[in-house]
Amino acid sequence: MSKQVRVRFAPSPTGPLHIGGVRTALFNYLFAKKNGGTFFLRIEDTDQNRFVPGAEEYIMEALEWLGITPDETIGKNEKFGPYKQSERKHLYQQYADQLIQSGWAYYAFDTAESLDAHRKQHEEQGKTFIYNHHNREKLDTSLVLSTEETKARIAAGAAYVIRFKTPVNETLHLEDIIRGEVKFDTNLLDDKVLFKSDGMPTYHLANIVDDHLMETSHVIRGEEWLPSMPLHVLLYRAFGWDAPEFAHLPLILKPVGNGKLSKRDGDKLGFPVFPLEWTDASSMTQSSGYREKGFFPEAVVNFLALLGWNDGTDKELYSLEEL
Ligand code: GLU
Repeated sequence: MSKQVRVRFAPSPTGPLHIGGVRTALFNYLFAKKNGGTFFLRIEDTDQNRFVPGAEEYIMEALEWLGITPDETIGKNEKFGPYKQSERKHLYQQYADQLIQSGWAYYAFDTAESLDAHRKQHEEQGKTFIYNHHNREKLDTSLVLSTEETKARIAAGAAYVIRFKTPVNETLHLEDIIRGEVKFDTNLLDDKVLFKSDGMPTYHLANIVDDHLMETSHVIRGEEWLPSMPLHVLLYRAFGWDAPEFAHLPLILKPVGNGKLSKRDGDKLGFPVFPLEWTDASSMTQSSGYREKGFFPEAVVNFLALLGWNDGTDKELYSLEEL
């Protein structure tokens, strides 16, 4: 590989780390080790409504127990730190402003009620409401207001968000290391919110700004993020930055039906979906973890590494080095 490999695991501390997340962390770790690269941990905690106390510590402890040790993280070799997004707020504001200046983003003042009304109106006509150029004229955006008027509104304290101005009539042909070519029609994409009215960036903006500043070479993450790939690639374009390479990993699914393996499925099958025990303070419930059930961390690592892969032999146990 010609470029310096830098990969990351970037969980949001919204609860205990799911084994699917552990698998993503493991793949990033192994990819870094194989390529003489760096594996770092970044905590994506910009969504204050979903923040769960203790989750960040849980994630760090679980990775440590499993031996999936980051080379750089909070408190350890903070080369591009801080590695916690809530401590990087000032950066995101600055980059959001940059997109406004360059015309790649705009202010929007719509209220939740008016957006609901637009959605309902579309539904009644059997259509899906897309917040983009199809509807911008009907919306309360600064695109249809003069800059002075916009400035005055903001100065007067009007609540606003900053939205991405998705390009019109373009088919994006993107390359995913696992999926191969994936195509997206930009006319079907929403002008996503990049910056919220609470002064915090959304996941999308913070994620790509950090991946750029932290020199991420490959984004290896769960498939649930594949729909965000076009926006992320467009954001890199808007900033004039090279995008990292992308690899979207298949999820660990329920045995029957659709979606990600849940705690309830795990309970039914008799195996935990969390590496460590987790006590949910809000519901006063406790979920068992592999560690407390007496599993060795090596067993968990092998279970995850051998899920959907084998090296062609009958070997069942690998050390992290061998993997
Ligand atoms: N914070 C996101 C998550 O919780 C990260 C997704 C990504 O790796 O880009 O999964």
